Formats: sequence, C-alpha cells, structure tokens
Amino acid sequence: MNRKYRKTLIAGNWKMNKTPSETKEFMLAFKGLIPKGRWCDIALCVPAVCIPAAVRVMRETRVGIGAENCNANPSGAYTGEISTDMLVDAGCKYVIIGHSERRAMGETDQDVNQKTKAALAAGLVPIVCCGESLEQRESLVTEEWITMQIKYALEGIEADQVRKSVIAYEPIWAIGTGRTATPEQAEYGSKISRATTILYGGSMNDKNAEELLAQPDIDGGLIGGASLVPEKFLKIIEAANQDA
Ligand code: PEP
Repeated sequence: MNRKYRKTLIAGNWKMNKTPSETKEFMLAFKGLIPKGRWCDIALCVPAVCIPAAVRVMRETRVGIGAENCNANPSGAYTGEISTDMLVDAGCKYVIIGHSERRAMGETDQDVNQKTKAALAAGLVPIVCCGESLEQRESLVTEEWITMQIKYALEGIEADQVRKSVIAYEPIWAIGTGRTATPEQAEYGSKISRATTILYGGSMNDKNAEELLAQPDIDGGLIGGASLVPEKFLKIIEAANQDA
C-alpha cells in the first residue's frame, strides 16, 4: 500500500447473497466488531433491496454502503433498473461498475464508461472493475487487455474525476475460485495509474490479505466471499490497517 498518495479501501461485494433481514443481522454484528479509531475506508456493496437495511444500521459509522450496479440514464423507461440519483438518495456512497460477472451478462466497455460518468456526476465513488481471463493471461495479452478496459472505462473523464474513482483489478480466473493471484501478479495490473486507488480482487480472504496488501501498488481489496462473514471481513480490514 502507498498511503502517501492514495487512499486505502477495503470493499465487500456481496453479489446475490443475503436478504434484507440477513443484511440487518450482518450489519449489527459487524458494527459491534469495528473498534473505534482511525481506519481505512470501508465499503460494503450489497444487493439493491438490502441497501436501506445496510444504510440504516451503518449510519454514523465510517462504513460506506454501495450498490453492485447502476443504470447510466437519469430516469425513464428502463424497467428493473436503478439510477445513480436513486442510489444516492437511498444513502449509497459507492457503486461497483463493470464487474466481470456483469460483463459476462452482456455489459460492454461503453456501458461501463457511461455508468462511470453517471456515478461520478451523482457524487458516487465508482469502483470500476477490470481483469483478464485465464486464456488471455496464458496468451500473454493481460497488460494490453487491462489497459484497453481502463482506457475505455475512463474515456472522456477529467483527471480530477478519475482521481475520485477506484479501479479494481480482478483477474477473472481468481474470482470465487480460491485461486489467488500471487502478490506480484496482483500488483502487476495496478501499475496503470499512480493517482487512483487500486484494489485487488479475487479470492482475497482473512488468510492471504496481509501478503497481498503488502504490495506497494495495491491500495486495498474488493472482496466477495470473505465479505459475507463479519469476522473474516474485519480481519482483512485489520490487515489493511497494519503499517505498510
Ligand atoms: C468479487 O466478486 O469481486 C470477488 C473478488 O469475489 P471473491 O473474493 O469471492 O473471489
């Protein structure tokens, strides 16, 4: 981590897990675990229906609640979609954009760019995901691929706005597989920007977080599975708060 230039952020991505009742239960347990004092930024991105429960419990804490997706349009005939203004009004601070699971459902680089612009305009912190498949890594095109994804995602966005964004480098082959990138591989994708907070995502957990977060160009983590258990998520936060 490089606290001198960039913020440290530990963010959870719950994906399609937990009901609103389970969210309340988690948040109450997690709130009870967070010691007072100076901590890195903490975000929990939860399913849309769980946002109100999460915001209610976490009000007046340093934990920011986020969404897992948004629509780039301000309003209109987009059945089932949620705008960035709606997320802000519901109490969100963050939104994940371009997660590989959503890209696999058809989200394009252009969608990611439009959503990132809409999130920034609404005052949300976009957590923009990028990452290569195993096939791309084995074909040695990782660097070009990630550079292209980030270039598209941030096209037309002013530098001061880019600095407000967070990039999550998540090798697809490491997400939910228990197969973590080596600390060197995890850092590799993050050399793209010096001013923007860069997270690593992909099977980060309470056991390997310390080693991954020790890399100078990893400023935090985007955590799926391990963010569903308060004690595990807290351990990752504690690893981020050790002097790096
Ligand atoms: C993710 O979904 O962004 C993620 C990194 O998942 P996991 O930690 O479970 O690999």
